[in-house]
Amino acid sequence: AKGKGGNSLHFYSQQMFDDFQNRLALESDLKLALAQQQFTLHLQPKINLANRKLQGLEALLRWHSPARGMVSPDEFIAVLELAHLMIPVGYWVIEQSFRIMVQLQAAGFKDATLAINLSAAQLNDTKLPTFLDGLLQQHQLSAALFELELTESMLANNINETIKSMQRLKSRGFRLAIDDFGTGYSSLSYLRQMPVDTIKIDKSFVFGMLDNQADFDIITSTIAMVRKLGLEVVAEGVETQAQCKTLTQHQCDIGQGYLFSRPIPSDTLIEQLQANLHD
Ligand code: C2E
Ligand code: CA
Ligand code: CA
Ligand code: CA
Repeated sequence: AKGKGGNSLHFYSQQMFDDFQNRLALESDLKLALAQQQFTLHLQPKINLANRKLQGLEALLRWHSPARGMVSPDEFIAVLELAHLMIPVGYWVIEQSFRIMVQLQAAGFKDATLAINLSAAQLNDTKLPTFLDGLLQQHQLSAALFELELTESMLANNINETIKSMQRLKSRGFRLAIDDFGTGYSSLSYLRQMPVDTIKIDKSFVFGMLDNQADFDIITSTIAMVRKLGLEVVAEGVETQAQCKTLTQHQCDIGQGYLFSRPIPSDTLIEQLQANLHD
């Protein structure tokens, strides 16, 4: 073996090695994050465009890492998935979301829905429905108050199993949404088979809609199609009054974006809602 040289590392680039090291470090930090409660949820309002009232909220995961600062989920969700941490972190997100719903109800927002993002691993987790049943029972809440957001890309493989998982959640009364609509490869024919309530048009189309004819056409025709199917349509990433006005004119049901509010810590948002209510 001597001479053959045990340094197989040279077959890989230094870049690959660094990436691997970084991922391992991130993974071990994320394990600690869960144990040490470094995650929090921020909430972003969803606004009914016809009457400008609060329709619901979306829970968005945040990681306050002591070493790294505030880390966006785009930087760590994929690593959670690879490290098989998405299911435990997902359970934590769901439990927190139920707590938030209890607070919303107590604050007088009886109809506001709360959207929870689910990853593919969670949707395929056979223990998820029982876990949800337990929480509904414990908090005496209606499943219809929650909307579970699934991304279009999750629907790509094993569509029949995916539809079965969706039906298990739907049969309990949970609302289901397709997130990032327009960015994946899901066929429109599946839309008919899936028990979904809501379609969320990806923000990339909203960003471009007033400068780019193709984005505009995609937005307006998606709104029309979704409404025709009897589903609710949400535009995410609404940042300007002009976008909001055009979306409202084209009968988009709901808007979500920085124009209305950035995602903010759940306690702060609930305090603000209570203050508005007592104005
Ligand atoms: P998403 O579900 O598509 O969430 C929307 C993202 O757009 C959020 O990013 C939100 O902060 C951002 N956003 C909202 N309005 C605007 C706007 O007007 N302009 C711009 N530029 N951005 C806007 P965030 O919070 O960084 O989350 C990124 C993604 O991470 C989410 O995309 C979702 O896929 C994932 N994620 C977040 N929380 C969870 C979670 O609890 N579980 C799972 N599985 N995924 C999550
Ligand atoms: Ca979402
Ligand atoms: Ca989205
Ligand atoms: Ca997204």
